[in-house]
Amino acid sequence: MSQCLNPECLNQNPSDTKFCQQCGSKLLLAERYRAIKIIGQGGFGRTFQAVDEFKPSQAFCVIKQFFPEVQDRQNMEKTAELFAQEAVRLEGLGKHPQIPELLAFFTQDNRQYSNMI
Ligand SMILES: [Zn+2]
Repeated sequence: MSQCLNPECLNQNPSDTKFCQQCGSKLLLAERYRAIKIIGQGGFGRTFQAVDEFKPSQAFCVIKQFFPEVQDRQNMEKTAELFAQEAVRLEGLGKHPQIPELLAFFTQDNRQYSNMI
């Protein structure tokens, strides 16, 4: 299964497809992470279970998609900043068994993502 990341679509595609069959969005994030399913939803956005296709083991990882429920631009910028700060904070914490390890932070299709284990 390959979960479309477009919030207006969220179509589930066969696992070997590169683009969503419904909306045409790229299914690979940063050319390597493929979302499998939604595992959480909140005010900040969605959390997906994903596969890292660069790893021979095809290990599972977690991708957080920043997609705030706020409409106005000012709040959008503020929450985008908070999301970026959280990413920096997580990276600063380094390896710890109770805290997810941040592997990447990137923007695709105007949406921010962070990738954790
Ligand atoms: Zn789609």
